[in-house]
Amino acid sequence: MKKDNKPLNKYIFVVGGVMSSVGKGIAAASVGKILQAKGYRVTALKIDPYINVDAGTMNPTEHGEVFVTKDGDETDQDIGNYERFLDIDITKINYMTTGRVYLSVIEKERSMYYKGKCVEVVPHVPFEIIDRINTAAKNAQADFTIVEIGGTVGEYQSMLFLEAVRMLKTKNPKDVITMMVSYLPIPSKVGEMKTKPTQYAVRTLNSAGIFPNFLLCRAERSLDEVRKEKLALSCNISVENIISAPDVDSIYDIPLNFEKEGLSSAILKELGVKEKKQNKDGLLEWKNFVKKTKSNTKQVKIAIIGKYFETGDFVLADSYLSVIEALKYSAYATGRHPVLTWMNALDFESNPKKLEDLKKYDGVLIPGGFGSRGIEGKLNVIEYVRKNKIPYFGICYGMQLMVIEYARNILKLEGANTREIDPKSKHLVVDVMESQKENIEKGKYGGSMRLGAYDAKLKKGSIAYTAYGQENISERHRHRYEVNNEYVERLENAGLIFSGKSPSGDLCEIAELPKKEHPFFLGAQFHPEFLARPLRPHPLFTSFIQASIKNQK
Ligand code: GLN
Repeated sequence: MKKDNKPLNKYIFVVGGVMSSVGKGIAAASVGKILQAKGYRVTALKIDPYINVDAGTMNPTEHGEVFVTKDGDETDQDIGNYERFLDIDITKINYMTTGRVYLSVIEKERSMYYKGKCVEVVPHVPFEIIDRINTAAKNAQADFTIVEIGGTVGEYQSMLFLEAVRMLKTKNPKDVITMMVSYLPIPSKVGEMKTKPTQYAVRTLNSAGIFPNFLLCRAERSLDEVRKEKLALSCNISVENIISAPDVDSIYDIPLNFEKEGLSSAILKELGVKEKKQNKDGLLEWKNFVKKTKSNTKQVKIAIIGKYFETGDFVLADSYLSVIEALKYSAYATGRHPVLTWMNALDFESNPKKLEDLKKYDGVLIPGGFGSRGIEGKLNVIEYVRKNKIPYFGICYGMQLMVIEYARNILKLEGANTREIDPKSKHLVVDVMESQKENIEKGKYGGSMRLGAYDAKLKKGSIAYTAYGQENISERHRHRYEVNNEYVERLENAGLIFSGKSPSGDLCEIAELPKKEHPFFLGAQFHPEFLARPLRPHPLFTSFIQASIKNQK
């Protein structure tokens, strides 16, 4: 590598103050975006302070979406935000939890890595954290490594991560900065924006030995000069580093808003980096994309049939985040405004009349899922949209169920099912993968599904092939079950096409009905949503949206 190409090796930590859920992940992704737009290489890490080794073993209503990386890690949805904002593939090393860090310290201890030393919580745990951050930075050859620490400062569980920040900063004072994303309430009875909770949060951070360089002030409204100066004075931060981050219509506005506040230049200044000369606005394409999120007036209406939203709509949106964003990108790119409606699969079990409601939508999507709850409702939906020629897109479980519906209603295989639900079924058209049997028998559930990117080959002339415009694809997976090969020939003779298969031909990756039978009836065993990016919508989602637009009355 040429000398002037050497990465700058700067670190930006993003922590939260006052409360969680104020958009730290999007803030971190947006900081990455504006630095990337200035011509720098950026990578991003997420730290989750819980004990779970990954997000894969948590219920989506607990945790939100499990985002799967190319190399098969089951991570937090913020990793998805980073991939989408930065248009990069992020790997395992960029995600850590308390459980993961402790696990590797203990494993290292067991193999004499520490050469007989007494291994202690401090410094060995923070050392492990720093090692991981450095490896991620090195792998990405990053100029800027952004590290988001989940939770809120003051929580006991994030102390060791803050200690790692402090240690790294002590060793590299010029290369490490910290940003606090904080919340400024405007109590309705008071009618005024209050800065005190943020002042306290900064003091709490100070007591961990960290003095933040920036405050990103989340509030319903913009921050005025009076409050900026007040915070600057009380928090030891220069006033130009107090950034206003008011609520926005779309998360994609945030990088642009940060730039209105001059954030990237302020970061470069703080880290002593001379700004690169650029002859083109690095955010030009992003700005065009943001325009589309607002200017499309014609709609496309999609119903999403799910079940992970017992605690309200808010959680549903979280559980299927990547699917929702993927739908949006394809709608924007096709000149439409997406109108997405969540429907509970269980409602279609008890009330068959409800199926009629599906006619109000241009397309129907069933995303991934697990277990038996809501399954018969989903099967009713699939039967209805197949017969009524409403465009249907099934993802993972949504594809397996599509095959089960076809087996039951076209092949007349009574009780056809997946082993996941009914192991005693006479017709297990979806069965456990050979490689998964031992995991299930021994109860090895953590991180053991078929995970990450695998290649597939597409059949020429199929809807899938036309959408991708190529024969070979690679997509990310997360499943234990697969279409049973013993039924493939019968299903194909009855009209279903397996248009995507693994290179060896033994695993069905895509099922579809020919266009002359149905405008769009397609399911994918993989999760295409993980590869959809704002500026590069996913071909299968786009093809589904196009079919849905055609279906409009
Ligand atoms: N439950 C199914 C399986 O394990 C589908 C998984 C999913 O939809 N992600 O194969």
